[in-house]
Amino acid sequence: MTVTGATVMNSYDLIVIGGGPAGITAALYGGRARLKTALVEKGAPGGLMLLTDNIENYPGFTSISGTELTSKMIESLNQFQVDRIYDEVTGLKRNCDEWKVITTDHVLSASAVIIATGSRPRQLGIKGEERLRGKGVSYCAVCDGAFFEDQQVVVVGGGDSAVQEALFLTQYAKGVNVIHRRDLLRAEASLIERAMENQKVSFTWNSRVVEITGSDCVEGVLLEDLGSGAKTSIPCSAVFIYIGNLPDCKFAAEFLLLSEEGFIIADDELGTGQPGLFACGDVRKKHLRQISTAVGDGALAAMTAVQYIKKYKK
Ligand code: NAP
Repeated sequence: MTVTGATVMNSYDLIVIGGGPAGITAALYGGRARLKTALVEKGAPGGLMLLTDNIENYPGFTSISGTELTSKMIESLNQFQVDRIYDEVTGLKRNCDEWKVITTDHVLSASAVIIATGSRPRQLGIKGEERLRGKGVSYCAVCDGAFFEDQQVVVVGGGDSAVQEALFLTQYAKGVNVIHRRDLLRAEASLIERAMENQKVSFTWNSRVVEITGSDCVEGVLLEDLGSGAKTSIPCSAVFIYIGNLPDCKFAAEFLLLSEEGFIIADDELGTGQPGLFACGDVRKKHLRQISTAVGDGALAAMTAVQYIKKYKK
């Protein structure tokens, strides 16, 4: 069932907040355990996976796009009875052993809640970034890469996302300059090898972007060499920023123990220390953020929630 529209008060065993791979899996396991389950998602399901062009490290698929893998996960979810609610969660309250999930249009209640809200792209916070957002400044190569056919573009960052998306951008761009603040990438070896071999990809090391320039659209970036302090201007038509992600769990902050960066600290069974409140996927503090680890998290959080609900309902 898909629920949209006016305020209603629905009661569930389990509410999963967030429809990325972790949330989809948690909801699937909830439905499969015959819990009355709702999956609340503010946009299209898929999370950051949806913005990934090519996934080659999710077992079962040698190469699959984020959109296709999302569809396949939704197909799996659709085998089970799970209400899908398209709405933004704005608050969480605890009331007499029940959780109340407040969304823009609904108030929902549940015995257990799983937070799987993932993360959003971190911003550089530099001059020109906000003003030129959508005018050459982008956080999604899959969404915007095609606009820069045969042009020079810049990617900022040195992790898996930066290198993977730099490679993706070579389909369109004349050249992709990856600007990294160190001289060592943290991306996985196979991605680095491919980027190093690609004639269209170049690297600018030990440098940071201090300003994005242009009047109506991006025309260049101002770089600072972190060794010498020298500043150089580089012309480009787009800046794709991949400098990590920030968690999305402000609505529940009062109940959570958070890391310095704001990620949820959960225990081995993905409990948050609050009865019936669990966290899984990229929103929690963990070492490895992959689709495969998100899926594992979703399954574990749901099964812990199932155990909790069985006890709670006795
Ligand atoms: P990440 O691994 O956190 O890397 C962020 C990169 O941005 C780092 O190289 C970091 O530099 C740099 N950075 C951070 N703040 C910066 C700033 N203010 N200015 C300039 N540079 C800055 O983030 P990610 O690449 O988005 O990946 C996020 C998670 O998703 C990771 O766990 C990653 O493994 C996973 N992921 C996996 C795949 C895949 O499996 N193919 C694809 C995409 C993402 P330093 O290195 O100096 O810290």
